[in-house]
Amino acid sequence: MASKRQINVGGVRIGGGAPVAVQSMTKTETADFDATMRQIRAIAEAGADLVRCAVPREQDVEALKRIVKESPIPVIADIHFNYTLALKAIDAGAHCIRINPGNIGGPDKVAKVVEKAKAAGVPMRIGVNSGSLPKHLHELERESPVEALVTAAVEFVELMERLDFHDFKVSIKSTSVPNTIASNRLLAERIDYPLHLGITEAGTKWSGSLKSAVGLGTLLADGIGDTIRISLSTFHAEEEVKVAWEILKALKLRQRGPVLIACPTCGRLQFDMDTVVAEIERRLEAYEDPIEVAVLGCAVNGIGEASHADFGITGAKNEGLIFSRGKPLRKVPQERLVDELFAEIDKYASAGRTVVDEHEAAEGAAWLKRIEEENAGELTPERLAKLEAEAQRAEADGSVRLPQVEKVRLDESVSPTAGRRFTRT
Ligand code: SF4
Repeated sequence: MASKRQINVGGVRIGGGAPVAVQSMTKTETADFDATMRQIRAIAEAGADLVRCAVPREQDVEALKRIVKESPIPVIADIHFNYTLALKAIDAGAHCIRINPGNIGGPDKVAKVVEKAKAAGVPMRIGVNSGSLPKHLHELERESPVEALVTAAVEFVELMERLDFHDFKVSIKSTSVPNTIASNRLLAERIDYPLHLGITEAGTKWSGSLKSAVGLGTLLADGIGDTIRISLSTFHAEEEVKVAWEILKALKLRQRGPVLIACPTCGRLQFDMDTVVAEIERRLEAYEDPIEVAVLGCAVNGIGEASHADFGITGAKNEGLIFSRGKPLRKVPQERLVDELFAEIDKYASAGRTVVDEHEAAEGAAWLKRIEEENAGELTPERLAKLEAEAQRAEADGSVRLPQVEKVRLDESVSPTAGRRFTRT
């Protein structure tokens, strides 16, 4: 079930139906105030709602006091092992405290942190990691790692409830994608507190993004998860935020900025699409509207599956077409495609609607028709997909018509089966 309870981290609502919050973690030494603030600004600029900073030493707490004042987004203090740092981080003004009750020194120390958090009105995140489960669960962990993770999380929740504290979210982290999915599904059935999702030590930008997309995407599609962090082995924390947003945008859970769609290209490609797509993606970062922009490697299919895009381009030799919502806008020389595409997007932004020049649109439509006619017989990936989809629809609604095959008529007098015990119709 989706979480019923909601907490508020420095003005950002988490759980209880609030939009899934994006967070990242600084990779600087928190004590290095300037470097940490630079990274927090980059993270916030990329669209993070929250940022987490590691607080392993006294000097980090000192820097935290200034960081929470200057950060454009709420700051979560990440504490392990030393409960006194958690107490000090609350005094420093942290908007949330993350602890793992299993490694903070026992229930008494947890109680001290809870007491302080309650008095200060500071919410907490209690986390369970596959690498640091309490001793009494090690045997269960060997038999069923998922059950062990969930049991640990539920035990910590019960500890919080015994302390009459309810202002927290819960995370179960594992390096295993299947275990992360299974344990969070199970946990969501057992508790109604907000859940933080992440895959621990997911890996590099490439592999980590994919693992996170699979693991977190599966849970989010089930309606599980209230805040997410993508853990990537890169110093550039803003990359984690960009990946998180792509996952949320793909699932249509939140909107932020343009969505770029591009064909995979094939042997029909007629321009340097790799460069063009990269250029468009870079330039789109400056736009905030959630417009959809399509890039098609050739016009053989017409505008086809990109007909819903707010803007798009498709190319042929030396020339290309700019289109909007399935209608040609104009034909342009290929080297001008990207600049003219952005000129159209800018016109749209200032006029509040797509601006159409009827003469240029008609020229573009004629150009497109000619290319389509010249390539009418081509079985492109899009056309094959369309044929398959049509066949599936026809089969589903029972309107499949088997091809009418003309029957073979045998000359009975020479048939080797003539006179046998059946008749031909
Ligand atoms: S046929 Fe399809 S995949 Fe191939 S270049 Fe054209 S639009 Fe792209």
